[in-house]
Amino acid sequence: MRLSRTYVPTLKEVPAEAEVVSHRLLLRAGFIRKLTAGIYTYLPLGLRTLNKVADIVREEMNRAGAQEILMPMVQPGDLWSETGRWEFYGKELLRFTDRHEREYCLGPTHEEVVTDLVRGEVRSYRQLPINLYQIQTKFRDEIRPRFGLMRGREFVMKDAYSFDRDEAGADLSYRLMYDAYKAIFRRLGLEFRPVEADSGSIGGNFSHEFMVLADTGEDTIAVCQACEYAANLEKAEVVAPVDKCNCGGDCGPAMEVPTPGKHTVEEVCEYLEIEADTLVKTLLFDVDGTPVAGLVRGDRELNEIKLKNHLGAQDVKLATPEQVVAWTGAPVGFAGPVGLKAAGIRIIADRELDFDCGWVVGANKADAHLKSVDLRRDCKVDAYTDLRNITEGDKCPRCGGAIGFRRGIEVGHVFKLGLKYSQAMNAVFLDENGKEQIMVMGCYGIGVSRIVASAIEQNHDAEGIKFPPSIAPFEVALLSLAGGKDPEVAEAADKLYAELTKQGVEVLYDDRDERPGSKFKDADLMGMPMQLVLGGKGLKNGIIEAKDRRTGEKRELKLADFAAEFASWRRTVRQGWGLDID
Ligand code: ATP
Ligand code: MG
Repeated sequence: MRLSRTYVPTLKEVPAEAEVVSHRLLLRAGFIRKLTAGIYTYLPLGLRTLNKVADIVREEMNRAGAQEILMPMVQPGDLWSETGRWEFYGKELLRFTDRHEREYCLGPTHEEVVTDLVRGEVRSYRQLPINLYQIQTKFRDEIRPRFGLMRGREFVMKDAYSFDRDEAGADLSYRLMYDAYKAIFRRLGLEFRPVEADSGSIGGNFSHEFMVLADTGEDTIAVCQACEYAANLEKAEVVAPVDKCNCGGDCGPAMEVPTPGKHTVEEVCEYLEIEADTLVKTLLFDVDGTPVAGLVRGDRELNEIKLKNHLGAQDVKLATPEQVVAWTGAPVGFAGPVGLKAAGIRIIADRELDFDCGWVVGANKADAHLKSVDLRRDCKVDAYTDLRNITEGDKCPRCGGAIGFRRGIEVGHVFKLGLKYSQAMNAVFLDENGKEQIMVMGCYGIGVSRIVASAIEQNHDAEGIKFPPSIAPFEVALLSLAGGKDPEVAEAADKLYAELTKQGVEVLYDDRDERPGSKFKDADLMGMPMQLVLGGKGLKNGIIEAKDRRTGEKRELKLADFAAEFASWRRTVRQGWGLDID
């Protein structure tokens, strides 16, 4: 494509509203424009990249046996009432009524629609398994749309839904998608990790989030430095600790000590001159309407999801100050496990607290703590379990290696749904014995438009974007430095453009009447992985300059043997991105 005839409105100024680098570069390089909060137009270059991502996703989904369909974006509210989500989905669901006063929403996801589709048609086990997917625009009225394509209100998603006759089948469908996702992200040329995520009530390893690793990512993930293990903080298992004692085995009776006005861990530790790892933090929760105390060491963070899963609860909320006073008899900051049980409160403690004694705990009394507490002697803990967040330096639960933290951007999610939707919507079939069974479902999302932003978050420098060759709008940026003054250069560049295009190489040909400096700048900004620069001097010497945008490495290709030299250079560039030659 000739740049002179392409709509690429680049910007010199960085738009103030753009907080993250992908948003800034997508605007500056003329890839997208904002219509209104969280809603964007894709300009020619932006759309090419979006389509390339979608094509790779489509190919691998098809290869894995999924079938593409296209479902409506407008969905009837009645369907959402069947699963109870009309009531529970909240404000992300954009609802409206039509002229007949019937209720509708814009689809943020399609479990209801696809289940409705299948339940009407699939009658026999012989028709299963099925995996249906679409690549489509979703709408979620996100509370804080931000970061450009990263968190839009309107965005492009690939969503797939599998239907199986039993658990074993559903596990296999899950595995197929997991493997397809790995193939997709490899082909996209991105550094990624599938991480174990919380699968809530389903349990087991049946939820993985695919994370593109980037320092600017919103999520922190725990990754093992030695093996492949990676998990969300909410899910990462903490290895059971070894025996350790704060007091050497005999701490004497528990004693009350005054801690006037000392509410926080830091204040108490400073006042009593103790380390945070000898203090027990007692947090009170309203768990489905009943009080629960969660105990972790003072230097740890309690993980509410682990608490919720341990209790098999629906809803876990931190207690309000009023509840704390009512349940413990003391203001916030002085709760402790000793004597709590008497008030009928369940106590769940992190495993790390099981072996120790010599703890400092809240006294359930304003301005006081207890010291020399032995949890087994002085109170009744209902259960010791893995209740805290993993930290850097903890041991990997798989191999014992050291855990480190990385930042990531969630670009995909595979999830075993089980019977959640099929049961609510009565998606049933007849098995070999003519007996009615409920279909077992899975759902699998990929943020197609978010991938465009993530690729840039992971690959850029001060000059601009560095696109992986598989998703760059064009693989090559061809710069003619003729500037209208040198017809020979212009002619030779035209010829190269035609030749490359004939070979099937996608070229963005900068044939504009601009100064070389601004052509170089724009090429670096737009981020095509391979730059070819033809100038008067080079032409005279029979060479063209080639620059690898990722490494900045330059070489000269002989024009006399251009086809072969270009092919070999192209291979090098692709290999640098970890991509196969195709
Ligand atoms: P998040 O936690 O980031 O809000 P989610 O858990 O709501 O994501 P899913 O419902 O699993 O996301 O959607 C599947 C994929 O769609 C996500 O992995 C993500 O890549 C993408 N996605 C979700 N919300 C947005 C959004 N607002 N803008 C762009 N992409 C999104
Ligand atoms: Mg979300």
